[in-house]
Amino acid sequence: LKAILIVCDGLADRPIDELNGRTPLEVAKKPFIDKLAGLGATGIMDTIAPGIPPGSDTAHLALFGYDPHEVYRGRGVFEALGAGLKVESKDIAFRCNFATVDSELRVVDRRAGRISTEEAGELSKSLRNLTSKKHPDVKIIFKHSTEHRGALILRGRGLSRQVSDSDPEGREVKIQRVKALDNSGEARKTAEILNELTEMTYKILNKNPINLRRKQAGKPPANIILFRGAGQMPTVTSISEIYKIKAACVVPNALVRGVAVAAGMTPINVPEATGTVETDTVAKAKAAVNALAKNDLVLIHVKGADNASHDGNLKQKIRMIEKIDEMLEYLLENLDMNETYIFLTPDHATPIKLQNHVGDPVPIVMAGSGIVKDDVNFFSEKTCAKGGLCRLRGINLMPIIMNYLGKIEKFGA
Ligand SMILES: [Zn+2]
Repeated sequence: LKAILIVCDGLADRPIDELNGRTPLEVAKKPFIDKLAGLGATGIMDTIAPGIPPGSDTAHLALFGYDPHEVYRGRGVFEALGAGLKVESKDIAFRCNFATVDSELRVVDRRAGRISTEEAGELSKSLRNLTSKKHPDVKIIFKHSTEHRGALILRGRGLSRQVSDSDPEGREVKIQRVKALDNSGEARKTAEILNELTEMTYKILNKNPINLRRKQAGKPPANIILFRGAGQMPTVTSISEIYKIKAACVVPNALVRGVAVAAGMTPINVPEATGTVETDTVAKAKAAVNALAKNDLVLIHVKGADNASHDGNLKQKIRMIEKIDEMLEYLLENLDMNETYIFLTPDHATPIKLQNHVGDPVPIVMAGSGIVKDDVNFFSEKTCAKGGLCRLRGINLMPIIMNYLGKIEKFGA
């Protein structure tokens, strides 16, 4: 028995005026997601707890069976894992952005005009041998991932994740000096290194020929690196160890891939999957079906609906639901449902109107051999609230999946 878990980032929503009070899930054409609902059981789920707006990282920790309040130690570490860096237990890791600043280090564009992966990759070559003059004992590792994104690891003695961000998260504001968030020497040392790195990356990148060319072409130069989300490895036992299974994941988004890697899943690269609304969902489904041959559990993560929601783009969100439906069509046609379970859920709601995560429950559906069907055959926030699963917590999901796979040992005699 095998299982596919599909997490649709930010898919759930609230009633929208333009849709006469309906939600994107209620208006999108999604016959195969609805078919899945008809085959199995539905319910609603509080990923972390009722009313708590989850981050995508903490939401996925919960979905993988961990208590995020207990294990979460900052997002940076997941960005680093997701970018393919090996992270050691005492490393401090950061999410990085290539950004554009003026000569007074005011941020003009936090994403350097969404610089291409190729150009940012070229630029990152000049950041290979960074060393702190003040703290040369600390190893500095920078890795670019996609577009403007990257990750940084500080490795050495006496470091702390208790530091603020340099990223001001706005436009036309000066880059922030990184501050120690407690009185420890470790936090001070870490902040000093980051402030040194901020100036260093500006000096190196601003004169890079690629940026000179960008300026000539009227494009914003990617002339500084912003740091945020200091994090450290969570101390978790991998799900492969807990349940004695093999798990893989198809997750183009670096943050969520990092959480999956931390949970012990093997990442599978699908070149057609982009982590954006342009993604090829069927290519992801194909890769997942292939991966099931060698794995008990395969996670597919789809980011597009969350991106559309953060941009307030209703049309794109609806289109994304229809693309997820194409994925379900492929899965339902190519999987033996006597042997395979399919679970589908958002990690949280990101209402179009608010363009941000909220703490509403999300609809969930699961189907496969032995799952008792309920009367719901349409997948939405409203209908799933009437489903047989009633109201779950995110942390319950992994044991539920593993119970159907026969991987949970009996508790008691
Ligand atoms: Zn999310």
